[in-house]
Amino acid sequence: MEHIWKEEVLRLLRSTDQAEFIELLQLADRIRDEVVRKQVCVHGLIEFSNNCSSHCLYCGIRAENKNLQRYRLVPEDIAEVAITAANIHGYKMLVLQSGEDPWYSVDDLSWLVKEIRKQSKVLVFLSIGERNMETYDRLYQAGARGMLFRFETSDPDLYRILHPNSSLSLRLEHLREIQRIGYFVATGSLVGLPGQTAESLVNDLYLIRDLHPMMATIGPFIPSKNTPLCNESPGSIALTLRMIALLRLIYPKVRIPITTALEKLGGLEVRERALLGGGNAFMLNLTPSHVRMHYEIYDGKNSTLGHIHNEESVHSLTHLITSHGRNVCKGFGKDFTLSAKDMDAYCGIQ
Ligand code: SAH
Repeated sequence: MEHIWKEEVLRLLRSTDQAEFIELLQLADRIRDEVVRKQVCVHGLIEFSNNCSSHCLYCGIRAENKNLQRYRLVPEDIAEVAITAANIHGYKMLVLQSGEDPWYSVDDLSWLVKEIRKQSKVLVFLSIGERNMETYDRLYQAGARGMLFRFETSDPDLYRILHPNSSLSLRLEHLREIQRIGYFVATGSLVGLPGQTAESLVNDLYLIRDLHPMMATIGPFIPSKNTPLCNESPGSIALTLRMIALLRLIYPKVRIPITTALEKLGGLEVRERALLGGGNAFMLNLTPSHVRMHYEIYDGKNSTLGHIHNEESVHSLTHLITSHGRNVCKGFGKDFTLSAKDMDAYCGIQ
């Protein structure tokens, strides 16, 4: 049976029929409404270091990029930003992201997570790339409860080309280990990578489902200067929207954030299409202004003010969400999708 569905998913992914596209988005919206209801979560993102020892061909902060000004926030400063985000701005879930930066020892990161947890009640998600299992374990013990860790592409050959010295199986091994420890996982892939096929995109969707993450992030590839892929074309907005909608059909209960990469390509108007086509979460950027323009994983990553946490962006995002009869859960909302009891259980607070 599944292969018949896969054929249909592939057909819909490739279809250029506008009426069918609109129907697909509407169907995804209906399923979202039935399964995960009207809560739209807004998470906070803190990009604390753009130093990276990896070589991902598409990424602007890759080790080989000598033209990027590198920065690192010290743990005390990261903690302060996170605690303010939670206690003053009301975020309930924060993603702390960096390149693969061994400058931060496991003790540093544990201290950071403990400090945030001690001073605020917030779900700490980390996005720090591949570390050893002991590190993931220790960070869980420190109180981190989520890991954002994309598999990037489910095509093992393409994976190897894009990630020299690494492999998809190793990436998936890390992912499974992270899940085994008990983390909530956010995973997903890039859309429109050079050499990517529609079949492999369908496999990405089924791989997400099989990994049963709490959250799935799908965003378009955007070329980045000073990388080997700088002259390639970006992923397609429509294809990314189709991927989001199809994921909602295949794996209805997942939380699907509308990525800043999609917003970057499609302008802020695309938010609405994604929100009405299966998406149900957003992220606002809380990275301090003196460094955030250097977190350039793709060109112009943090140049759109609407993605940055400020009074106006909070207001317009809240307006967008509520104008469609949805509720802002978490962040600056009063009701959060996770109940207080769940939060306590997730955060290990007695
Ligand atoms: N180092 C961490 C995460 C940091 S980068 C890790 O390995 O998980 C976060 C995400 O940015 C990556 O997972 C990748 O999917 C995305 N990204 C990197 N370069 C990109 C580009 N050029 N266009 C769009 N997304 C990109």
